[in-house]
Amino acid sequence: MIVVFSGPSGVGKSTIINLLKSEFEFYFSISHTTRPMREDEQNYTDYYFVSNEIFQEMVSKNEFIEYEKYGSYFYGTSKNEITKSSFTILDLEVNGATKLLSTNSDYRGIFIDIDDEILIERLNERGHNKGFIEERMKLASEQRKSIPKFHYVLKNIDLKTTLKEILDILYDLEKK
Ligand code: 5GP
Repeated sequence: MIVVFSGPSGVGKSTIINLLKSEFEFYFSISHTTRPMREDEQNYTDYYFVSNEIFQEMVSKNEFIEYEKYGSYFYGTSKNEITKSSFTILDLEVNGATKLLSTNSDYRGIFIDIDDEILIERLNERGHNKGFIEERMKLASEQRKSIPKFHYVLKNIDLKTTLKEILDILYDLEKK
């Protein structure tokens, strides 16, 4: 079973995924990316950090089940990654997630969202300016158009509640 997590930026998806990774024993696919490694990240654990050349070579060899350009960098899930466990979780931006769910009816998608007012509040708290926040809100509303492709939609109002809802879904899917 492949479970795809996605959602607009700022909804708290990374916090949820980091918690799931550190406290529970689910297998998370490790993506390839051309983005530079951040200080708190590790190669082969958070991502396979690769050059543009290597990424494009993998594309030409058809080694990805999906890949997208997000911001200035490429991100992709290699075919190899999804064969490693019988239950695998993918954390993807909305375009890649939507395409994958459209072409694989046996995959399950979880869209994590929040209400606009809370999203604005969170982006404000992160110190973003008005223009940036407006762009993000426009993008979020575009991304929500993909919701029908997902099997579960969760509003991340309270982290503990969201985590419980996600665990219920994952344990349930694991049984299938
Ligand atoms: P970040 O650079 O913050 O780690 O990730 C940026 C975005 O890329 C996140 O929304 C993350 O879910 C997404 N992402 C990570 N790996 C992949 C991948 O293999 N494919 C796609 N389509 N998106 C990915």
